[in-house]
Amino acid sequence: MLNKERTMEAITRMYEMFPEAHGELQAQNPFQLLVAVILSAQATDVSVNKATPALFAAYPTPDLLAQAPIEDIIDKIKTIGLYRNKAKNIKACAQMLLENFGGEVPKTREEIMTLPGAGRKTANVVLGDAFGIPGIAVDTHVERVSKRLRICKQSASVTEVEETLMRKIPKDLWVKTHHTMIFFGRYHCLARNPKCEICPLLDLCQEGKNRLKGIRT
Ligand code: SF4
Repeated sequence: MLNKERTMEAITRMYEMFPEAHGELQAQNPFQLLVAVILSAQATDVSVNKATPALFAAYPTPDLLAQAPIEDIIDKIKTIGLYRNKAKNIKACAQMLLENFGGEVPKTREEIMTLPGAGRKTANVVLGDAFGIPGIAVDTHVERVSKRLRICKQSASVTEVEETLMRKIPKDLWVKTHHTMIFFGRYHCLARNPKCEICPLLDLCQEGKNRLKGIRT
């Protein structure tokens, strides 16, 4: 396992590789970001960004989305995976924002997690990117990279990955690290074909060394 110091060494090298890492979901305000993050579950940001301009043009506020015909929401997001469930969730989410939170996105993880379709990852992304409240959202890339680098145990749950990262990384770097690890996983340490042979982190990564020797881990 990488200790705190070596974890920060690995993360610092990722910062150098992806200095411009940032959230790629397009949104003009916290409400739109919340909807976009809910839509992004098990779907690519690219597919969400293709659908949301028309959705947000038609339904720019919780009030309008809450009243929208479900079939029209479905029609506007049907290029995104799991669109039927997601359409129901974002409409119900808008209704709950109006009923429980005065039409505003709440600023605590617990409150965001009461909204339909919003889990811990959604809450952390919204808190970090919309309100600047530190958190580390663990998505598929953050989890894979953390496990390959042995920052956390292979058997760790998503919550345990998050807790380990929060222990090993200073709080003021949580949001930046979340975006950087996503870029690193999306564009370099890919799920199927990680670029181990040209990886600046290879000396810190047992998984990469094993892969280059042809050892499956
Ligand atoms: Fe990922 Fe390979 Fe780099 Fe390890 S050496 S971090 S597995 S790309």
